[in-house]
This record gives sequence, C-alpha cells and structure tokens, in this order.
Amino acid sequence: MTGIVIRVFGRYYTVKQDDVEYISVLRGRIKRTPEMRKFSNPVAVGDVVNFSINRDGLGVIESLVERKNFFSRKDKFKGKEDLIAANLDQVIAVQSFAVPRLNLRFVDRILVRGMSAGIPVVLCMNKLDIADKGDEAYISSYYRDSGLAIIFVSALTGEGIEKFRSMISGARSLLIGSSGVGKSSLLNEVFSGLSVKTAEVSESTGKGRHTTTNVQMEQINSSTELIDTPGVREFGIMHIEPHMLGTYFQDFNEASKKCRFNPCSHDHEPDCEVRRLVDLEEIHPDRYVSYLNILYSLRENIDNMY
Ligand code: GDP
Ligand code: ZN
Repeated sequence: MTGIVIRVFGRYYTVKQDDVEYISVLRGRIKRTPEMRKFSNPVAVGDVVNFSINRDGLGVIESLVERKNFFSRKDKFKGKEDLIAANLDQVIAVQSFAVPRLNLRFVDRILVRGMSAGIPVVLCMNKLDIADKGDEAYISSYYRDSGLAIIFVSALTGEGIEKFRSMISGARSLLIGSSGVGKSSLLNEVFSGLSVKTAEVSESTGKGRHTTTNVQMEQINSSTELIDTPGVREFGIMHIEPHMLGTYFQDFNEASKKCRFNPCSHDHEPDCEVRRLVDLEEIHPDRYVSYLNILYSLRENIDNMY
C-alpha cells in the first residue's frame, strides 16, 4: 500500500491512505541505508511511503517514494540532518513586529535553506496593528531584491488576512515561527471552525530540543495542507559550501558577477563589488552582516544559530 505521512511523533509515524490513518513504524533496513543515515529521523511529514500492515494492525513503512524536495536543518547534537518535512510547495516564516520581536537573521537562514532546497520562502509579518512604521520600512528595504516575498498581516484586525488565505490555498505549506508570533491566531482567523491546536509539547519543554520530533500536517481542505512545527527557534544550516552561500543571496547576484574573484566569498577578497555596494548602502548593510554570520558558521562548522 502507498500512503502519506501526516504525523511524526518520535519513532511513530501516522500514515494516511484513503482517509484511514495507520500508526506505523519503520522497517529497520530503511534506517540503515547510507542515504538515510544522514538524518536523525529518516522519514518526515509529507513523505509518500510504501507500507504494509502487520498482524497486530501496526503499519510498517517498507520504503520511501522519491521526494520532490525536503526541508531540514542541522541537528545540533548529532551532527546529523534534522528532517522537518518533505514534498512542500512553500515555507512560511511567521514573525511578529513585537513580542516576540522580529529576528531577520533567523528568516535569512530559512530563506537560504529554502533556496538551496528549491522551495519558495515567504515571510509573514504578523501584528501589523502594533507595527512601528520604521520597522515596516526597514523590513521592506532589508529584503529588497532578495527574492523573499513578504506579506504584512494582523490576526487582530484582519488586515492582510485575505492575502494570507490565498497564499496558503491550494498548497502544502510548512509554517515556522516561534511561540507568541500569533500563528494560531492567524490560522483561526483564516479558517474559522478549524481550532488550531498549539503545540501540545509546550515551548518550555521544547527548550533545548534540536530535532523536530513532533510534527503534524493538517488537511484544511482537499488541496490545502499546513504543517506546523512547534519549537523551531534555532536554525543551523549544513551542506552548503561557504563559497556557494552568496548564490543564495539573490540581492548579491548582479554585483558578484563584477567581483574580481569568482567564486568570491565577499569578505576578504580585493575588488569585491558586493562589499563596494554595501559601503554605498545599495546592498543593505545589515543583510550583509547576516550573510557574514552564516558564512562564518559554515566555515567553522560551528553552531551559530539564530
Ligand atoms: P502562537 O504561539 O504563535 O500560536 O501565538 P498566539 O496565536 O497564541 O498569539 C500570541 C499572542 O499574540 C496572543 O496574546 C495574541 O492575542 C497576540 N496576537 C496574535 N495576533 C496578533 C495581532 O495581529 N496583533 C496583536 N496586537 N496581537 C496579536
Ligand atoms: Zn565579492
């Protein structure tokens, strides 16, 4: 049988087929292939799997259908890859203007990972009703030419909610945002009737967790799916060669063609056009600092996460 993984809870996977859900485990050999050993947990929500049912009615995942894409971060402790979800249409980073305050370095990491995985990333800025006008302008100029789509919304006043609704309609989206940004308020506003459960595992117990062990996909309607990820508040990047990082900063692309060196890491090389434009503020200086921050963490292979 073939089904889709809609929930991962530790070592248990809920596989859905024809509206029936099967609690399943992995056949041991799946975990032992070299490809799968890279991951802390080799199967993710969104994966299409071939499975069988054993005598006790427990599902056994036998093999994985090839993924269109997958989104992952670094597992801080094991040096492995923490698979978050697979076969996505988009990743939505949800942030708020205040409490908690926006953290664009975190968004930048998600954007880099999305680009390297071939998954579009959208930034959803919530709590527009209490936004400082300066912050709003700052975000727009920070991401000018970056390729990141941004929508400004308020779950409280309903502003921008229609845009949010049409953005997620007909797609499978992964939502990433730390507790308090208003994710549940937003979803409840968009889908009245759907009562979005916030993470059962509270963020306080989630503290210090570096693998995504509790992920679930909600079927909103026949074509709209949302995957919520409780507790992703650190985001380490792996598997990117430091000199390739600049290619995921779309706002550097034009300039980097004019750097004297190719590839150029834009930090120490002479005649670097990116740095020249940063000095002129044609490339946002803070975005450049964020780039350096990721660059150094990749180079030193340290867990410099935001
Ligand atoms: P979650 O942890 O991301 O699911 O966040 P919640 O939806 O529980 O919201 C956290 C807090 O932010 C609550 O006190 C909400 O009332 C508040 N909140 C959510 N959206 C908005 C908004 O658009 N504007 C304002 N001012 N507060 C909001
Ligand atoms: Zn350069």
